[in-house]
Amino acid sequence: MTNTTPAAAPQASRSARESESRVEAVSSPIVRVEALRKTYQTARGALNLFENLNLTILPGEMVAIVGQSGAGKSTLLHILGALDAPSAGTVYCASTNVASLSAREAAVFRNREIGYVWQFHYLLPEFTAQENVAMPLLARGMRKQEAMAIAADWLGQVDLEDRGSHRPGELSGGEQQRVALARALVNNPRLLLADEPTGDLDGVTAGRVFDLIERLHKSHGLTSILVTHNLELAGRCSRALRLEGGRLAPLPAAS
Ligand code: ADP
Repeated sequence: MTNTTPAAAPQASRSARESESRVEAVSSPIVRVEALRKTYQTARGALNLFENLNLTILPGEMVAIVGQSGAGKSTLLHILGALDAPSAGTVYCASTNVASLSAREAAVFRNREIGYVWQFHYLLPEFTAQENVAMPLLARGMRKQEAMAIAADWLGQVDLEDRGSHRPGELSGGEQQRVALARALVNNPRLLLADEPTGDLDGVTAGRVFDLIERLHKSHGLTSILVTHNLELAGRCSRALRLEGGRLAPLPAAS
């Protein structure tokens, strides 16, 4: 059950309003990547990962990206989330030209606009689940009492309302990933970027975490991009793309 505390209530209504306006803004892309090039300089010479990669995503889409290991899936998410810089091309994400951001602007952009979930949860082991979820709010200067109340509400949204005082080591893999999901979304980002979010989980647990991502995606009006090697889960997204040879192409629906 969602525990809507007084402190969390304004956040909940803000979230509902934002969801509505996000749905209204359906016509203009939230992600626009044109002629993206990414080159890494390595000891063995230049590694050209993308030469002319294009991608357009509309608000509310849930897009899966599949592809072989080393194809560049994580690099693409990193560029969209302003964690890595393109070598050339246009990258607009959440109305922001991510290539033009300074390090400080990139940090603010990530905190406000992007929720990031990795294969491994990266929760801080010495802090409780509730404190971990509250971290992004504290990072932007919110008072601890208010941040903890909102974090408690979010733990309810990932069905862990009774685990707030547990440290990550006292939680199962699926529960740790649900806490990480709450932490990723606690700032009400517009975009959820998830890099193999179920890759470290058994099949049943992976399915449950994916169900939760799907539920939160809908209820919060998110736009979500999920890297996965699980074709069944990719098939549940509104669109699935394969990254191969530096290009994205639609993945045919499984027959
Ligand atoms: P995927 O997520 O599809 O497995 P990655 O985006 O992690 O692929 O990596 C794509 C390729 O880019 C790999 O060959 C990887 O070794 C290389 N790569 C990633 N980051 C760097 C870096 N910082 N410097 C040099 N090469 C890198």
